[in-house]
Formats: sequence, C-alpha cells, structure tokens
Amino acid sequence: MATENHTRRAVLAALGALGLGAAGTLLFRQPASLDTALDTLAALPDTDPMPAVFVGHGTPFGALAPNVWNAQWAQLPATLPRPRAILMVSAHWLTEGASLVTSAAAPPMNYDVRGFPSELYEYRYTAPGDPRVAREVATALQGHTPVYGDAEWGFDHGTWLVLKYMYPRADIPVLQLSIDYTRPPAFHYELAKRLRGLRSKGILVLGSGNVVHNLGERGGTGVEEHPRDWAIEFDQRMTAAIMGGDHAPVLDFQTLGALAINAHPTYDHFLPLLYTLGLAGPEAEVRTFCEGFQWPGISMRGFVLA
Ligand code: ZN
Repeated sequence: MATENHTRRAVLAALGALGLGAAGTLLFRQPASLDTALDTLAALPDTDPMPAVFVGHGTPFGALAPNVWNAQWAQLPATLPRPRAILMVSAHWLTEGASLVTSAAAPPMNYDVRGFPSELYEYRYTAPGDPRVAREVATALQGHTPVYGDAEWGFDHGTWLVLKYMYPRADIPVLQLSIDYTRPPAFHYELAKRLRGLRSKGILVLGSGNVVHNLGERGGTGVEEHPRDWAIEFDQRMTAAIMGGDHAPVLDFQTLGALAINAHPTYDHFLPLLYTLGLAGPEAEVRTFCEGFQWPGISMRGFVLA
C-alpha cells in the first residue's frame, strides 16, 4: 500500500507538471509523529524574523556540475541568519485536495527525475527532518486547508538540487510542504500568510521553482543562453511588481494571456514564488540575489525578502 500511495503521488506530480491534472482521491498516511510531537517549537523564544527566500532551481543538470547560479546559491546563506530548520516549498511536490508535510525524522531521497547520468542518483542529501516543525505547520494551517504528515516523499530535486549548494553540510533539519495544485494562485498566497509565525521561530521557508519555466524551449548543456523575448518580458514584469511591493500583478499573472502561457505552460514552478511573497508581505524589502536564463525559457532569478 505504501508503495502504491507513493506511486500515485508521483503520478500526480508528473501529471501536474504536464498540466493534465489527475482524477481520483489520494490516500494520505498520517504518522503518529504528527499527532504526538511535543509542542516545544512554539515554546521557544522568538528570533528576529527569518527572511523569505525564492530560488530558481532550473534543470537537474545543475546537480552534476557547478554553474554561475549554484555558485550564487552557495554564497546566500552567509547573508542570512542560520536557520533552526528549513521548510521547502518545491514545485515538484503537487497534491490534490490537501497539503502534505514531510514528517519523517530521517526523510528519504526522492529521485524524481529520469534519464540522467548515474552520478545524479548516487547523490544523498542526508539532513534530518523535524516532526516538531511538521506539527507547527499543521497547526498554522488549521482551518485553511487539510494538512497531513507524509513519511515517504522525502527530498525531491526541487529541494536537494538547491540545498546541495546552499547548505552542503546537511546539518539543518529540512521539511517539505506540498502544493495543492487544484487551488487558485490566491489560495497559496493566503496559505503562506499563515506560516509567517515560523519566520520568528528561526525557520527558513524557501520557495523552489522558477519565475519563468518553459521546458519546451530546449537549451544545451546548462550554459547561459539567449532567452526568448517573452521570457525576458515576463521575468521583468514580475520582478518590477515584486520589487515595488505590488503583489496583485503576480497573483493575477494568468491575465497576461499568451505571455503567461509561454512563461508557464503549467504553473507548478510559479506557485512557490507566491508562497514566498505571502510569507514576506508587500512591505518587505526585496533583493535579487541571482538572475539570468539557464535555457531560453528558464529564468534563474532568486529573491530574498526581509
Ligand atoms: Zn523544476
């Protein structure tokens, strides 16, 4: 049964990535750890609010070789407080009708990509999980959406591709929160507002997607290539709105019609950005720490909002 559940979620993720959706009801497992975890995180003293971060993760080729972007990811943590834990919102974990949060004390690797050199499948990101934080997430989202613990998903490449460079020692607990792909953009933004309290408990919430993500525009080997005009336009429009604290045009990106469809034939990679914006709020100071295009339709832009 466990394998079957895992497979169903993987299929949903694949269908979501293709924009096809999926029918049927997912079977969620709710480990006891989520019900019985000690409520110690809430009792800890508040910290200065942790910035909210969005990373454009690009293609998994970035895991195999250094590039200009993952070099910038590696430099980012020196500019941030050291997190107590990291909550990843990865474009690659899509669910239907609920949010799942990884609840295992030692989450497994999830090699959710196919056809890459064997070296990629030998990589291990060995950070522990933290069931306390899973419980905090469930509590924070109570009344907004159903949340269930999941001990099987582990770390998908939206997580390990980025953290391999940002926190290579893997000595900070890491969790993932899934994205309910049946919900509209504003739902995710509102959901993220409810997670703001985590920022003052030393938890880094990190959105992992891409501001522009169209894999149909194939590139070569990961070297920066000239982007399409629509990719530049969408990237610049979203950036201008975010820098100006004007989140409405970002939430309403679909009103851009063909421009939005070119930038996101499916919008799974855009949704993590809405979590980052909702966590930070429009009044946050914004900086771009990373930019450029990995392929002609993949923006590698990343933001820190504090
Ligand atoms: Zn991706």
